[in-house]
Amino acid sequence: MHELSIVEALIEQVQEEVRRAGVEGKIAKLELSIGRLSGVNADSIRFAFDLLSSDTILAESEIVIHESKAVCRCNSCRSETEIDDLLSQCPRCASDDIAIDGGRELLLQSIDVEE
Ligand SMILES: [Zn+2]
Repeated sequence: MHELSIVEALIEQVQEEVRRAGVEGKIAKLELSIGRLSGVNADSIRFAFDLLSSDTILAESEIVIHESKAVCRCNSCRSETEIDDLLSQCPRCASDDIAIDGGRELLLQSIDVEE
């Protein structure tokens, strides 16, 4: 499960940002953005957080996960379609002259610290 190493890195990133900001206290809330095409499962991320955060400043934090959508733009029929899976053809006209936008990122959006 590669979500474990992703979450491990995220927890380190959060601790580093909090240290750099000179803030004391626990993390109340963490917001993540995960792309639909990133291959990362939101439930596995939550599970990994439960597992790995117990001895950290994130132990009692709420994890909010936003799933960002991907869009298929077709250069032939000019349609834009929201997609959940990676495509090789336009769902409208079956052209392969398409571009896929978004859906691959994994971002730490915000950190709320409990005072
Ligand atoms: Zn098309």
